[in-house]
Amino acid sequence: MFVDPHTHLFISNYSTLEIIKRENYQEVYVLAYIPFKPQYHTTLVELFRWLIEVEPSRFKDVGINLRVGLGIHPRNIPSSGLTSLLNSSEEFLIKADLIGEVGLELGTEEEVMVLSEMLRLADILDKPVIIHTPRRGKDLILKKLLNVLSLSRVQPNRVVVDHASYELIEEFLSFGTLVGLTVQPGKLNVSQLVELVKSYPELIEVGMVNSDCGRDPSEPLAVKLAYEGLISAGISGLDALKLVRNNALKLVSKS
Ligand SMILES: [Zn+2]
Repeated sequence: MFVDPHTHLFISNYSTLEIIKRENYQEVYVLAYIPFKPQYHTTLVELFRWLIEVEPSRFKDVGINLRVGLGIHPRNIPSSGLTSLLNSSEEFLIKADLIGEVGLELGTEEEVMVLSEMLRLADILDKPVIIHTPRRGKDLILKKLLNVLSLSRVQPNRVVVDHASYELIEEFLSFGTLVGLTVQPGKLNVSQLVELVKSYPELIEVGMVNSDCGRDPSEPLAVKLAYEGLISAGISGLDALKLVRNNALKLVSKS
């Protein structure tokens, strides 16, 4: 019954996948990301192949539906071969369910150029996009991001601006896109999430709870724990399900 729409579970062990299956997860989105800046562009090409060619059968074995997101994360812009990578991106991205994780980290010109290209491909390939925002300097990056999005042709209802912070929730809502609510140490905790949903009920229609679970400290069951937190705070089952499943499914169902 749960969907986790932002994970990097391709670097998690099999037991983690079994745990989330046992807890009634029906679907997860696995997004491309590695925890360092690659020296060569071919590292990302091989990552894309790994996610498209190898991971689906692992998730099928566990009994969880997998959606694959491919894209160039701002921390993964390679030191060499960026032009070749951009030239070959379309042939991989066309095979993905989503474009992601893409976004801005420092907001450099190169990051803006790469993100704009990812958005251009998302538009012509008609794929939803998951956009990363950084922990540090979020307010400034959001202003840059708004500018990049306004220059892009991608429709706001196909975009998730992710890792919303408690403090900047109004800025996130003002984008008119979906709002990614990452419940993870250092991002939102369950009580902050509950408080946000109660103070800004419009989040029920546009919020998407996720774990960002991968190699960094994270809770594989964050989406389920968020659901339980929402229910015990008096949010209706119907509304809570939008945040932990339905809004995420609606995003990919149009593709
Ligand atoms: Zn992530």
